Amino acid sequence: MSRTFSIIKPDATKRNITGSINKIIEDNHLVIVAQKRIKLSKDQAEGFYDIHKDKAFFADLIDYMTSGPVIVQVLEGDNAVEKYRKIMGTTNPENADNGTIRKEYALNIQENSVHGSDSDTNAQIEIKYFFNESEIHQ
Ligand code: ATP
Ligand code: MG
Repeated sequence: MSRTFSIIKPDATKRNITGSINKIIEDNHLVIVAQKRIKLSKDQAEGFYDIHKDKAFFADLIDYMTSGPVIVQVLEGDNAVEKYRKIMGTTNPENADNGTIRKEYALNIQENSVHGSDSDTNAQIEIKYFFNESEIHQ
């Protein structure tokens, strides 16, 4: 068993499709062991995506991620990081496999509906960024 960190992004909360996304997560045997709906501050979003601060899309990414509420989640399961990345699909939904969240729901390369950690190390860092251990329940 391992954990990953997920965000259901503003394009998805705006379209009221968070339940549809959670269904795909649960159908694939990941358990939502923590979840809350929050609005990211500019500082929070910039800190979270610090690794992309020098990219051309950074300012737009921060505007988008602070444009509406998000759902932050901790997911638990076998190989959670790798499994969730597979379920999410590629960053650009045009290249995503059928049945993935991004193929089904993403609007474009930016408004791509979900975030998932890309390594176990980053999963731990990202979970800590938003949750206390006392908020996570198996
Ligand atoms: P995430 O980190 O959100 O799970 P990812 O790992 O698939 O997504 P990253 O390369 O880490 O992709 O990019 C982070 C986010 O920045 C993307 O999910 C997307 O919202 C946005 N993004 C990435 N590349 C572009 C781009 N070329 N143009 C606009 N936005 C982009
Ligand atoms: Mg990423």
